[in-house]
Amino acid sequence: MLNIGIDLGGTNIAAGIVDENGKILRKGSVPTGKERPTEEVVKDIASLCFSLLEQEGITLDDIAKIGMGCPGTVDNENGIIAYSNNIRMENVPMREMLSSYFPGKTINLENDANAAAYGEYAVNGGGAKSFVFITLGTGVGGGIIIDGKIYRGFNGAGAELGHIIIQPDGEQCTCGIKGCWEAYASVTALIRQTKAAMEKDPNSMMHEWVADYGKISGRTAFECARKGDSAAIEVVENYVRYISIGLINILNIFQPEKILIGGGISKEGDYLFEPVKKIVYKYDYNKYMPKTQIGAASLFNDAGIIGAALA
Ligand SMILES: [Zn+2]
Repeated sequence: MLNIGIDLGGTNIAAGIVDENGKILRKGSVPTGKERPTEEVVKDIASLCFSLLEQEGITLDDIAKIGMGCPGTVDNENGIIAYSNNIRMENVPMREMLSSYFPGKTINLENDANAAAYGEYAVNGGGAKSFVFITLGTGVGGGIIIDGKIYRGFNGAGAELGHIIIQPDGEQCTCGIKGCWEAYASVTALIRQTKAAMEKDPNSMMHEWVADYGKISGRTAFECARKGDSAAIEVVENYVRYISIGLINILNIFQPEKILIGGGISKEGDYLFEPVKKIVYKYDYNKYMPKTQIGAASLFNDAGIIGAALA
C-alpha cells in the first residue's frame, strides 16, 4: 500500500507518493499562494495529489492514507490547523476540507518539523528507541521521536526546540522572546553574525567572497574559514558553540540514542560536525553510559513529505 505525503510550506506545497519504506515514487510541487482563500489552496493541494496519482498510473484506491505537515500548531485530534503565522491560517478545519477531495481516506495532520523528524527517523533512524531531529534553516526546527512515536506535548505544541533559551535577554527571536537558540543557531543568525564580522574586519576574505557571489549566505564564513581567514574562523567557531549549547541541553534532557541535523548547513560535513561533537561530548553530563550518536540528516526537503506520509 502507498501513502501520500504533503508538505504545506509558506512558499510551496510539495507532495509525494511514498511507499512503506519511505521511498518517494513520485513528487511534485506548486506555489502556495498563501494570500489566497484557504479553499483555493486546498483545491491546489488536491489537484497536485491527483496529478501525481495519474502520472504514477494509480488511483486513490491504491492509497492507504494521506498525511500533511503544516507550519505552526496543529490539532490532529480535531483535524484543525490551530494557528500558523507562516501560512496565515487560524482554526482551519483542514481534515474536513481535504476529505471532500479524498472521501473515506485517513487524513493525518502534523506539525511540519515533527513530520520532517519522523521522515528522517523512518529512513535514517536505524531503529533508535529515542531520536531527535534538528533542522538549521531560516529558523531552528526540531522533532522528538520516542519509542517510534512523535512527542507532541499534551497540547500539540511541544518539541519547539528552536525556542529553548540559551542566553537570557539575548538576541531577539522571531517568536517575540529574546535569547532563543534559533536566534543564534539558525542560518539567518549565521548570516547576521557573518555580516557583523565583516563590518569589523574590512580586510577579511569574506568581502571578496560576497563580491563574487553577490550576497552573504550561510556558506560565506564556512568557505572563507576553510581557506584560513581569521575573521571567518571566528564566526564559525562561535556558530559551532551556539549549535553545541542547544544540543547539550537536548542531550541532558533526553539522552536520545540518535540526533540528526538537517538543513543546508549540514552539508558542511565534518568541518561542522567534528567540532560540534567535541564540545557536546565534553559538556554532556553523561560520562559513563553509551553516547548519543550525532550526525547529518540526508533527506533535506523530502523529509517533510516522507514523514507526513508515514507518521
Ligand atoms: Zn524564539
